Amino acid sequence: MANPSLLILAGDGIGPEVMDQVKRVIAWFGDKRDLSFDVSEDLVGGAAYDAHGTPLHDDTMARALEVDAVLLGAVGGPKYDDLDFSVKPERGLLRLRKEMDLFSNLRPAQCFDALADFSSLKKDIVAGLDIMIVRELTSGVYFGEPRGIFEEGNERVGINTQRYTEGEIDRVARSAFELARRRSSKVCSMEKANVMESGILWREVVQKVRDADYPDIELSHMYADNGAMQLVRAPKQFDVILTDNLFGDILSDCAAMLTGSLGMLPSASLGAPTGDGPPRALYEPVHGSAPDIAGQGKANPIACILSFAMALRYSFDQGEEATRVETAIEKVLADGARTADLMGEDGGTPVTTTQMGDAILAA
Ligand code: ATP
Ligand code: MG
Repeated sequence: MANPSLLILAGDGIGPEVMDQVKRVIAWFGDKRDLSFDVSEDLVGGAAYDAHGTPLHDDTMARALEVDAVLLGAVGGPKYDDLDFSVKPERGLLRLRKEMDLFSNLRPAQCFDALADFSSLKKDIVAGLDIMIVRELTSGVYFGEPRGIFEEGNERVGINTQRYTEGEIDRVARSAFELARRRSSKVCSMEKANVMESGILWREVVQKVRDADYPDIELSHMYADNGAMQLVRAPKQFDVILTDNLFGDILSDCAAMLTGSLGMLPSASLGAPTGDGPPRALYEPVHGSAPDIAGQGKANPIACILSFAMALRYSFDQGEEATRVETAIEKVLADGARTADLMGEDGGTPVTTTQMGDAILAA
């Protein structure tokens, strides 16, 4: 059987620096675990603009639609601030998301024990936390029509429309249930069915998909405001949280702060399954190109390495190997290795990006 294929788009700023460490991890799997990938690399963002005058070349776009998964570093930087909107580095990423039709955004909040003191919450609330927020990404109030600022009588009115079709809810619900089967099979769906029509439909469709095709999934429903409260009160009660675009935006940032640094947070965006194969998928760290530390060897590569671990689990059906990566990271952190972003005031000496990669490989 052919090796699974992976397109690496390292991008700008610290993107290539953290991606170098991921490439070492990928090579390690080929050497030590007999798990090889057909890896290709290309440019995205400012790097693609410098080479081709566009933040995403058509050939790169075509390749992204062919591979099993795309792994992206970060795009953008001050050098590109004055570019025309149509060629901004971020447009490269937006085009990828749009043409790959990535409607399901996965944001894990996982708290490594060694970093539990780093959370904004008490240690016992977050130690060992491992939850996943599935956010609908391409519809809802950010896109619904009508929208705009209109004249009404003698004043203006700002309007957005929360709109979800059954099909949009159905597909993201399936995505969450498929994911939950690789975890604890527990999903909590969040909306506000008490005050919103779209919430009523959301709850109904999610329940219907569960009853028809995922009877093994333990599904519960919660109003999103209560969900926000529960997320900071007792986050470990959740495993997978399924929610819409707007609530997901807020809840996933909230969950992110449970875990500490931006340098630790991976993400995935999934589309529809392609035939019998895995869904279209793009994996990337939550952080950006961090121009303030680019080129200094300070970047924490863990978010990007964890993004690859997500690819192992969700695109390549290699859950045990993903756990192997996560366990190595847990060990390295427990042994005390810290990049600068993971150090408190009292400090100590931080490790470099490459040294963090060395330690993870050794573990
Ligand atoms: P974007 O608009 O691309 O999301 P941003 O300005 O919101 O970018 P980041 O580029 O993510 O934010 O950087 C925010 C802060 O976090 C910066 O001070 C940066 O140095 C720090 N940071 C981000 N990622 C990392 C990392 N992997 N390791 C260490 N520090 C990081
Ligand atoms: Mg940002």
